[in-house]
Amino acid sequence: MNINMYDPTRDYNGHKDEYMKAITQVMEMGDYINGQPVRELEEQLATYSKCKYCVTTSSGTDALLVSLLALDISYGDEVITTPFTWISTAEVIALIGAKPVFIDIDKDTFNINPNLIEEKINCKTKAILGVSMFGQMADYIKINKIAKKYDIPVIDDAAQSFGTTLNNQMSPYYNKIVCTSFFPTKVMGGFGDGGAILTNDKELAHKMKSIRNHGQSLNKFNHQYIGTNSRLDTIKAALLLVKLKYLPNSIERRKEVAKYYNKKLGGYKSIQCPTIRKGYESVYANYTIIVPSKEIRDTILNKMKEVGINLSIFYPKSLHLQPCFKYLGYDEGSFPIVQDICSRVISLPCYPELSRVEQDYIINKLFFNLNCPLSSR
Ligand SMILES: *Cc1c(COP(=O)(O)O)cnc(C)c1O
Repeated sequence: MNINMYDPTRDYNGHKDEYMKAITQVMEMGDYINGQPVRELEEQLATYSKCKYCVTTSSGTDALLVSLLALDISYGDEVITTPFTWISTAEVIALIGAKPVFIDIDKDTFNINPNLIEEKINCKTKAILGVSMFGQMADYIKINKIAKKYDIPVIDDAAQSFGTTLNNQMSPYYNKIVCTSFFPTKVMGGFGDGGAILTNDKELAHKMKSIRNHGQSLNKFNHQYIGTNSRLDTIKAALLLVKLKYLPNSIERRKEVAKYYNKKLGGYKSIQCPTIRKGYESVYANYTIIVPSKEIRDTILNKMKEVGINLSIFYPKSLHLQPCFKYLGYDEGSFPIVQDICSRVISLPCYPELSRVEQDYIINKLFFNLNCPLSSR
């Protein structure tokens, strides 16, 4: 058997006719940029997320970039964020000349530790950019309480958590700006790059729509802001409209897959299954476990590969140790929890079309092909 972290062709094959029809329609319309499906998708995404406005973008990274630009964050400003995330989160802060200020994470949820935020706030702090890691929201109740005190906007990098809730509310209910990604492996994965920004702030929504289109205002050739070309292609929007129809279903399936892992792997001392806190849910962009050591982790990776199972490490290296952020002056030991977590996490395939047979294969190989340092129930 050969199992990868994700197989995007399964969803395509499952709804092939609808996808092909969507493509054909756009091709025949000829409206390849900012066509009707883009506006339709924005409306539906806003409705789905129970918020007022949605601005689609060419990627999740650009959703973050456009958001920071819309908040006028620039040289000399600081943005508080987590070093345990995909590079985009911190990259866009640095790209516009601002400084990413990292803080450590909660060791169980992998999300930013809200108790460490306040001590990093100063007059240069212009935003808090949290990440809802692996499908579970960061503690945005606490984070927004702190942010409100200092009148700082909170952005949720929800690239991995589109559709998730906290106390039955979606992220835009708590946060000024929510950014997500439609990269194929994400929960709402599309066919190529894509992203979206969600907000209840009318002015910001208008500004973001303008910025993603070269800062043009309603009349063409009038450039109100310094902007970008961060538009989502019509053809991708049309495909995402099909995808969105099945999203509630696929989130349910992800939860079922996760539940089965919990049942089979839970209770073993040497495996820490994902911790979902009370009131939270996870849409399981990933099913990430923690094992006792880096050595065990690397053994598992290799042995699983030998039997055709390709696992992933999200993330093997904290951002504060990446060469591109060396200038920030952090070093080994700056964020002990992130560093420890980076050496011991391992993510298992967790996607809607993963079959029970495949899942059993993964679980069995995990236990039995390992000469198992794991089975200490
Ligand atoms: C995937 C991801 C992004 C970037 O999204 P792209 O669409 O690939 O640009 C940003 N942040 C996090 C946490 C992600 O997982």
